[in-house]
Amino acid sequence: MTNFDELLRNNARFAATDVKDHQPAIPFVPNQQTYILTCIDPRVDPAQLFGLDLGDAIVARTVGGRVTPAVLRDLAWISYLHEVKTPDAEWFDLAIVHHTDCGSGLFADDRLRRDFAARGGFDEAELAGLAVLDPAATVAADVRKVLSYPHVSPRIRVTGLAYDLKTGVAEVIASPR
Ligand SMILES: [Zn+2]
Repeated sequence: MTNFDELLRNNARFAATDVKDHQPAIPFVPNQQTYILTCIDPRVDPAQLFGLDLGDAIVARTVGGRVTPAVLRDLAWISYLHEVKTPDAEWFDLAIVHHTDCGSGLFADDRLRRDFAARGGFDEAELAGLAVLDPAATVAADVRKVLSYPHVSPRIRVTGLAYDLKTGVAEVIASPR
């Protein structure tokens, strides 16, 4: 028995419905033309925050919703696919979401960060830069990071959002150019 037993029962019920028949016809072009990067924190589930259904959005999640090299590589790959496979399809909006009370803020704890980095393979300065203490500031920085990355298509519109856990409001910090 695992914590997934209940989830697998839910999956059996899902498989019996026709919801899966309404998925996008093209795997990298979501129904709502949206790509969302947010934190792995279970309190910031984009389906709940933004009312998304199956197939509506591409969702990527990292600690803090930070733009990492892996995130940039994925964006470059999706940009490339869009250019070569569906040049006439509508281009999508990318929203980067950072939030209040983020666990990534613990990267700013010198002792925690140092001891973790000492386990090997982690760069302490890089870890320190991942802390989300002021969501509006870090999300603006990550939007700039995406916009300056050469392999992400300029046709992708990038928005930065700061989400407040207490109010449930996602405020627009950075709008597309
Ligand atoms: Zn978080």
